Amino acid sequence: MLYHSTLNHQLTTTLEQAVIKGLAPDSGLYMPERLPRLPGAFMRNMGAMTLQELAYAISAFALMDDVPVDVLHDIVYDAFDFDIPLVKTSGGNYVLELFHGPTMAFKDVGTRFMARLLNYYRSRHPEWHTINVLVPTSGDTGSAVANSFWGMSGINVYALYPRGAVSKIQKAQFATLGGNVTAIEVNGSFDDCKSLVEKAFLDDELNDRLQLTSAMSINYARLVPQMIYYFWSYAQLVKDGTDVSNLVFAVPCSNLGNLTSGLMAQQMGLPVKRFISVENQNNIFYNYVKTGVFTPKPTQYSIAPALDAGCPNNFGRIIELLGTHDNVCRHIHAYSYDDNQIIDTIQQTYRDEKYVIDPHTAVAYRAMHEDLQPGETGVTLATAHPAKLKNLMERIIDAPLAMPYQLSRFVNAEMHVHKMSNGFTAFKRLLLDRS
Ligand SMILES: *Cc1c(COP(=O)(O)O)cnc(C)c1O
Repeated sequence: MLYHSTLNHQLTTTLEQAVIKGLAPDSGLYMPERLPRLPGAFMRNMGAMTLQELAYAISAFALMDDVPVDVLHDIVYDAFDFDIPLVKTSGGNYVLELFHGPTMAFKDVGTRFMARLLNYYRSRHPEWHTINVLVPTSGDTGSAVANSFWGMSGINVYALYPRGAVSKIQKAQFATLGGNVTAIEVNGSFDDCKSLVEKAFLDDELNDRLQLTSAMSINYARLVPQMIYYFWSYAQLVKDGTDVSNLVFAVPCSNLGNLTSGLMAQQMGLPVKRFISVENQNNIFYNYVKTGVFTPKPTQYSIAPALDAGCPNNFGRIIELLGTHDNVCRHIHAYSYDDNQIIDTIQQTYRDEKYVIDPHTAVAYRAMHEDLQPGETGVTLATAHPAKLKNLMERIIDAPLAMPYQLSRFVNAEMHVHKMSNGFTAFKRLLLDRS
């Protein structure tokens, strides 16, 4: 199957090139020429499948033989080797806990799938020598990407984060790894980190000499496995005999990758009544839904750092999938909350339901409460474990939180950090020197 740029449908390439390059040469995003519709019989039988069986079947449908089946089987079984429970809280709400993977945030699945696929492509191209994965991060992306690629020979990861803006536990999750993972502390903002990476992709000398790739959510390889969240929720509800005729998902949004995956699942035939997109005060998509105008802004820091995006990367894909602003409004209800509302929601949920939700999950939890109508079944995606922001969370709920092993194993290890200005010359020299 061919993949085209969202900006120019004549500009096409293979899945392999789409995954290696991340971005199309005209700066568009790659999309498949079509997404196959799942057979009805398959949909009816999903309740009987394990997570790995379901993930493999759906990935195989979506990728349509572009990856050999035995290779894909191993990639999927590896990427999905932890639980994704759908829990019902005492308040009667369904929450899909996506945070039981190695770095306890929902990005684990997408980055692990992508890492293994990239590693397979690398094994077929000895001439590439080394692949350099560049990733700007406000916390969650860097740790998920770094842990997914850690120890893979022939692949180097560079995670760039803004000084002073990433929590210690989050930083420890990638800065203690060493080996093929380089943590770069940039004296600047998250937008500076992003811009350094963008400049690297446009630099002729770097691209002539090095194989560069982006592990950001613009990479199509991260979107395919994320569709499984939505199919898996549906399958669990069907298995329990819950009415799924009016199914609604609330998604905490930043670069809109997770929401894009939900819309792709819907196009493959999953019966979803609507999505609720929920942002923090960086409410670029919310403003688009309300006004029809898409206006990126500088990123503002919040207590839900993984939602801090001033220019949601996957916007072009959402427009390609839904076509018009009217149609976007038909499929998506948009909400946005500030830090005080996030804190209120965490406290209220803890008090009333004895359920601890993290600041990212909180925005979606609140929007689901406001938006869900009688007769509808709502699933809120819980994207990060509360202990990832342990100090903040303990202050908010005024109670101690246990630290799971996945996080505590990093805490006392030594960090190796490369400090840098926000100038491009220093970053370019580092990349050239290291390879
Ligand atoms: C990345 C992230 C999000 C946002 O996901 P997008 O696909 O960028 O919209 C939400 N919550 C957490 C915890 C994240 O790490």
